[in-house]
Amino acid sequence: MSESRRSDDRPAAFISEYGKPLPHPSPISRPFWEAARRHELTLQRCAACGKFIYYPRPRCPHCFSDRLEWKPVSGRGTVYSYTVARYSPTPAFKELPFVLAIVELEEGPRMTTNIVAPPEQVRIGMPVTVAFEDATPECTLVKFKPA
Ligand SMILES: [Zn+2]
Repeated sequence: MSESRRSDDRPAAFISEYGKPLPHPSPISRPFWEAARRHELTLQRCAACGKFIYYPRPRCPHCFSDRLEWKPVSGRGTVYSYTVARYSPTPAFKELPFVLAIVELEEGPRMTTNIVAPPEQVRIGMPVTVAFEDATPECTLVKFKPA
């Protein structure tokens, strides 16, 4: 997800006590992360064309309207694609293996995420539901688990 750029303090802030990179909410994405802290999944919905969009942005990619509203969504979807990470690019990701996936939400948009399940249980097309991970008191990550 594209987040705000913080050139001066990024290296120190990028790796938190959580040990892994965490998002830095921007003014545009902040409602998504605040909802996640409440264990609610919300997406922007375009008031002009009615489509849900993800990732958060200032204009609808379908009709270019700026009339975007935050709406709670079901948290249900299916695995569109996935891969299994078996090697860590950094010591931070030492809990291996883990599943990186693209989940197609019931409302339409696709979200890059993790599937919280043993890799051998994951299949393309399998139903999943949102699973919130409280990484730190300030940051909750949006992941998915088998439905
Ligand atoms: Zn639109």
